[in-house]
Amino acid sequence: MCPIPDGVDPCVMGTTIQKALESAGHVRRYDQISITAFGNNLIQKKDVTRKLYSTGKISLMHGTEYQTQLLIWSERTRPPATMMIIDSHERLGVGWLASTLSNLEDKGYTILLAYPQCDGIAKPLPRSFSKQWYWQDLVSDEQKTITSLDLKEDCYERNIVFCSLCYFESQTFEDLPTHLKTEGHAYSEYNHSCDDSVDWLNLANLHLGRSEEWDLRAAQDFFIRLSFKYGNNPDPVDLINQNKELDILAARKLLTHLREKYGLKLGHLLTYCFEDLSEEE
Ligand SMILES: [Zn+2]
Repeated sequence: MCPIPDGVDPCVMGTTIQKALESAGHVRRYDQISITAFGNNLIQKKDVTRKLYSTGKISLMHGTEYQTQLLIWSERTRPPATMMIIDSHERLGVGWLASTLSNLEDKGYTILLAYPQCDGIAKPLPRSFSKQWYWQDLVSDEQKTITSLDLKEDCYERNIVFCSLCYFESQTFEDLPTHLKTEGHAYSEYNHSCDDSVDWLNLANLHLGRSEEWDLRAAQDFFIRLSFKYGNNPDPVDLINQNKELDILAARKLLTHLREKYGLKLGHLLTYCFEDLSEEE
């Protein structure tokens, strides 16, 4: 989440981070390392990110809320294992991220942190993690010694580009800028920019009619929510708000819209969510 410091070649970032881990004495499990760069403006700085990606060591992820990714990582990597987070001091020290990191450390993971040195007095982090660096120091120290190091090139997991809003994934760099321009992604951005109070089963909130891709993405979301609400394990909050007749009406209206505007016949989605309804379309 931190920009690469000025004057540092993006091509050496992978090896720099690897060396910092090794010199801190942290042994990699299975001798494997995976590095992911997160951000919302990966594509505005296309030259830098293309270089980062082209080394084959660093995955790119569009999005800033990466806590879920940490939890996914911990699901597939049992402790002891080491995780290094590079982010601003403010973000590392507060909220859900701070408690996620504390929980992971309690479970036996080693947590290493790096953050930019700030001019003012930074509030201390709520607990002291295994090791902390200033981001600039980490990068410049490693730069000095990098050429003499015996680095393994085959210890990196295969890198990918990823959109955390759409769960879109590819191994081709150019697919990310292309994806970020799609209407499907635009819908995800809109969806994520809204607060939790929005009723996504109210068609007025879906802004239908923008394009076929937008409408399809919105419809996909709508029916996923519907199947959660009326599925085998509904959220208790949803049960309080249940208004089945209204929801069926909205679902039918949405299907009619897709059929009339784009010729899409998706009637099976209705009977998938409501098994007691017979298919009519
Ligand atoms: Zn996306």
